[in-house]
Formats: sequence, C-alpha cells, structure tokens
Amino acid sequence: MSSRRRRAPGGVTYDDVTGTLRERTLTALRDPGLAANLRSAGTAWAEQREVMDRDYGFNEMRDRARDIRRANIRALPALLTQLQHRVRENGGTVVRAADAAEACRYIVGLARARGVGMVAKSKSMATEEIKLNDALEDAGLEVVETDLGEWILQLAHEHPTHIIAPAIHLNKEEVAALFRAESNGDVPDDREGLVAHARMRLREKFAQAEMGISGVNLAVAATGTVCIVENEGNIRLVTSQPRIHVAVMGMERVVADWDEAAHILQVLPMAAIGYDAANYVNLISGPRREGEADGPEEFHLVIVDGGRGALRGSEFEEALSCIRCGACLYSCPMWRNVGGQTYGSPYSGPIGAVITPLLEGPSSPGSRDLPFMSSVCGACGDACPVGIPLQDLLVKARARSRSPATTKAGWAFRLWSLLWRRGLTYRLTIVGWRLGLRIRGRGGWVHRLPGPGRAWTSVRDLPSRWPPRR
Ligand code: SF4
Repeated sequence: MSSRRRRAPGGVTYDDVTGTLRERTLTALRDPGLAANLRSAGTAWAEQREVMDRDYGFNEMRDRARDIRRANIRALPALLTQLQHRVRENGGTVVRAADAAEACRYIVGLARARGVGMVAKSKSMATEEIKLNDALEDAGLEVVETDLGEWILQLAHEHPTHIIAPAIHLNKEEVAALFRAESNGDVPDDREGLVAHARMRLREKFAQAEMGISGVNLAVAATGTVCIVENEGNIRLVTSQPRIHVAVMGMERVVADWDEAAHILQVLPMAAIGYDAANYVNLISGPRREGEADGPEEFHLVIVDGGRGALRGSEFEEALSCIRCGACLYSCPMWRNVGGQTYGSPYSGPIGAVITPLLEGPSSPGSRDLPFMSSVCGACGDACPVGIPLQDLLVKARARSRSPATTKAGWAFRLWSLLWRRGLTYRLTIVGWRLGLRIRGRGGWVHRLPGPGRAWTSVRDLPSRWPPRR
C-alpha cells in the first residue's frame, strides 16, 4: 500500500503543503466540483441537525454535554491517573507520550519487537496528528487504512478534508477511478458496487494484519474502557482480529464514568451526522481474557499530550472539551467553500483554526494565519454540541497570532482610533468618506473600492449615500 506522502496530481497533503494559506484558498475556490460536493454535504447535515433538535431536544442536551466536558478538563490529571490504573488492572499497557515523536517511537518499537509486517488502521485524528503512518512506513511496515473514506484517501495520497467524513470532497466517479487504478480491473460505477469492491479488497488485508491501530472517542476512567464510535464495522475488525491492538488518544478524551460517557456518546452522532445513534459503539476494556473467544492478545493505550497539557488553565482551555464531531466544519461558511485540506493541518474548520496554532505554536509557518480562516459569524459556536465559544477563541487566537494580517489590522485600528478621538478629524473623515462614495458611485451603488476595500466590494456593493436612504 502506498504512502500518503507522495503528492497526487492536484492533491493536497500537509506533509508537503506548498503555497500560503491564501494561495491554497484561492486554488480551492477555483474548483467548482469541490464547492458543490461540500455544499451538498453541508446541506444534508443541516437538515438532519434540525430533525435532531425537533425530535430529541438536541439543543437542551448540549448544556449537559458542555458541563460534563468542562468538569472532565478541570479534573484531567486525576481522571488520567485513574484511567491508567484501571487499564493496567484490565491487563493492558498504558504509555503517556509527551509528543508525537515519543508516541510514534513507542508504536514503531512495539511493532518491530513483535515482528509485525502489516498494520490495519481505523480512522483516527490523533494518529493523523502524530503522523503515525509516515513513522510506520519509514520503519518498513505496510499500513492499510480500513475506513472506507480513509482508504480512498490513501489511494489518492491525500489527507482528510473532514474529521468524520474524510473523503467528502470526492464524488463517486473520482472514487471509481481510484479503485480502478488500484485493482487494475473492472470496478462498478454505482455506490453499492463501489462499497462492495472496497469491502472485498479490505477483508483480504484484515486477515493478514498482525497489529490493529485505532483512535479513541472517549475513555472511561472508572472502568478503563475505551469507546470507539463507527458506522462501517471496520473498527470491530481492527480492534479484535490482529493479535495486538494499539489505541491512540489525545489526553483530553477522558470522562469520569458511564453516566457521562452515555450522554456524550448520544450527543456525538447527533452533532456529527444528525442521527440519534451511530451504527456501532465499540467498548474495549483490555486484551482478551482467559475463556474469551476473541479479541487481541495485547492491548496498548497510548495517551498523547502534544501541547494539550499547557492549555489547561489558559484562556483556551475550553478548546480541550472538543469531541471531534465536525459540526463546526459543516456550519462554517469558509470551510464549506474550501474544504479541510486547504487548512494544511489535520484539524480544519473553526476548531482547527483555533487548536492548530496552539498545538504547533503561534509562529509556526503552517498555522499563524489559520485564526483568520473565519468570518467570526458565530455559526460554529452555535453548532458545537459541547458549547465551545469558538468565535471568542478565534478572536483570542488572532490577537496571539504573528500573522502579517494582525500587524496590518493593528496599524489600521490605531490610525482609526487616532482620527476618531478628536471631533475635527472625526468630522473630516466622515465628510471624506461620503465624498469618496459619491464620486465612485454609479446608479446609487459603489461597485468597486480601491486598495484594501477592493476585496470587500469584490463580492458586494456599497450604497453611495451614507447613511443609506431607506
Ligand atoms: S469544536 Fe465543537 S463542533 Fe467543532 S469538532 Fe469540536 S465538538 Fe464538534
């Protein structure tokens, strides 16, 4: 199976991201197929979310979900200690990794020590974040993505565009072309035929894999159980068929007990896909025990800090409540037009624009402009099932950013403040503004402003009289 690191023609990979965020955005905006695919996915999601609110009172459920997650983050050190003890009591191994390198080193070392040749993976944002596939492939292991969307992206040498629906930017014709290239044979054109083809190809791989690697949606501290939600059934195979199961989680994904887990596991699919339940919820409490018919011989839980610990107690602490449902992506007018790959980071959309600079550092070249990938309209905060005030965090992230946009905006606001502090200069700017609008106006509207105003009028007109006549 080929690595994702090779660039596909036209494909975007964040290991090999080129151009500025602005250039990537403009490239995405020129792709009419991408916008159409994203818009249809976003519309379907919005319709289903309305059903959830109407039939289940989803909006009320969010309040409890927010309270649970905030309490979890406040109690994080104690919950993680309890989780570790319980997993070990259940016969599993727990590893706390400070960063991506430490996590990859442990997993690669384990694979080598156990003579593993092939790894079956399920969808996991944490493994995307730590670039685990690259580390495993560099060590000579074959890695097979078994989530349908992830497998499609592996064939396309691309990275996910959405947390829950990774290949949503591709249509079925593009998927069929990828399957044909992979199998060198006939592949049906219809959706059912494509799914059946993928199932047949992936089943062969499950039988050969010696190690299964999954993510974790939630870990329950009271019992040492990891919960993994899915719709395809591949995670059941990844976590039970190979003789070793490695689960990788960000350190914030822990809840206290089953009562909390049950609520979050209900809210998650409602927010993510607009359905009241996921097809499968896998609950894994350690390796196979004596007398049990199936399950792995070894279970390893890798808990990654990766910059999260430093966020506790900071003005960004609420970002740790995220349950990675992807709702803020669908609700974001920016994401709906350019897709997740444009962000150049595993986490895209509003939550990606907030946490990527925090996890990678505000001055990292890939992340410094990301907080500006938002109109700050507040739709993301409204969509979030755990009440993260994303629009507020985006504004705070902008203030921290060393982006040239911050510097320019800073100077513009300083000048504005200087002019409007005095009556005379205030009146002069108003007179100048009105005069300018009249001069440039045609038929009551200004269609094109010069300088920094050009971008504003490229998508809207301005009344040439101020204040506008009613
Ligand atoms: S920030 Fe909220 S809406 Fe966005 S992925 Fe996280 S939980 Fe979902």
